[in-house]
Amino acid sequence: MTVGLPAMGGSAIGGGGWGAMAETDAARSLARMVAGDRLPQALLLTGPAKVGKAQLAMSLAQALNCLERGSASGEVGGDPCGECRACRRIAEGRYADVETIAPGGLCRVSDHDHAKLATIEIGICQIRRLEMLAAMNPYEGRRRVLVIDPADMLRDDASDALLKTLEEPPAGVTLVLVTDSPARLSETVRSRCRRIEVTPLPRAVLSQRLAELDAISAEDAETLSRMAHGCAGLALAAIGDGEPIEQRRAQIADLRRLSAAGVAERLAFAESLVGRRNDAAPARLALESWREWWRDLLRVRLGVEQGITHEFLRAELEMDAPRYQPDEIVAFLLELRRTEELLRISVGVLITLEALMLAMPRPTVARQPVRSAP
Ligand SMILES: [Zn+2]
Ligand SMILES: [Zn+2]
Repeated sequence: MTVGLPAMGGSAIGGGGWGAMAETDAARSLARMVAGDRLPQALLLTGPAKVGKAQLAMSLAQALNCLERGSASGEVGGDPCGECRACRRIAEGRYADVETIAPGGLCRVSDHDHAKLATIEIGICQIRRLEMLAAMNPYEGRRRVLVIDPADMLRDDASDALLKTLEEPPAGVTLVLVTDSPARLSETVRSRCRRIEVTPLPRAVLSQRLAELDAISAEDAETLSRMAHGCAGLALAAIGDGEPIEQRRAQIADLRRLSAAGVAERLAFAESLVGRRNDAAPARLALESWREWWRDLLRVRLGVEQGITHEFLRAELEMDAPRYQPDEIVAFLLELRRTEELLRISVGVLITLEALMLAMPRPTVARQPVRSAP
């Protein structure tokens, strides 16, 4: 989470202690289980990247330790207040009984410096630390909450070591595994957790929540919630990164220019997308925006008005849509998907991007613009 943003779990973005996630089924069912003291000791939170899973895990830790736990009806319930000392300290990451185990984090071996080693996996030494913490009574709260995020980055030996704790979690401890790729977890780990699916927020809900932030106009909130497809974490991260809407505008301007450009310019652009260390990260970001743009073009071309991401570039969409054949757009969308898959395994970043550039369809001169549905 970027510094300087209001915490989603606080009261800053509405919905009480569950923050923006309050209106999700996942938050509601967790609150019910907390209120009824029926929360399983091992949970698996799944859902798209940046949908708000980590936030939900923190709110759950708050709900379990909140000093003023309430519910909508005013009785003792399963909702964190978001404001008491426990809730605040958990949100700030300073609560002794709540810890997230992540790649590069703390472990049990004193001379390991995972941050320096730039570890991308969660090692067995970190699971040993988790075992040690799990065995101790909560220090200041009611329950110790240990979050593993992302759980799909557990190394095989770490995953095996975790099984013992998952099978018989010590009393007083709740384990929360977080992942957007549950298929990459071992079947045995998955089978020992209660799975909770976290779904994106309805666009209107996210838009309203974002509009409650001081720095954001209602119009930008609407645009951002479309760009984030209901993923609150994605929208907030985009805001934290600077000017997400301006960035997107620039990416789409590049794309429209390239589509009409010649081979040399296209290839030069492919080269400019390759990261300094020959990595695919900058390209992946651009490609995501491109895929959404071409999807929008297809929708406008076919007169489908639902789910348009680039509503704020409506004039450009309507100008471009008639210049491409639907089957050309579909073919290029498939090409984009294929490229994204190749980049994920990071094989030959430049050549992969060059192939994509050459596959991009060229606009024909439009005879008449597509009219949008009323
Ligand atoms: Zn509280
Ligand atoms: Zn270690």
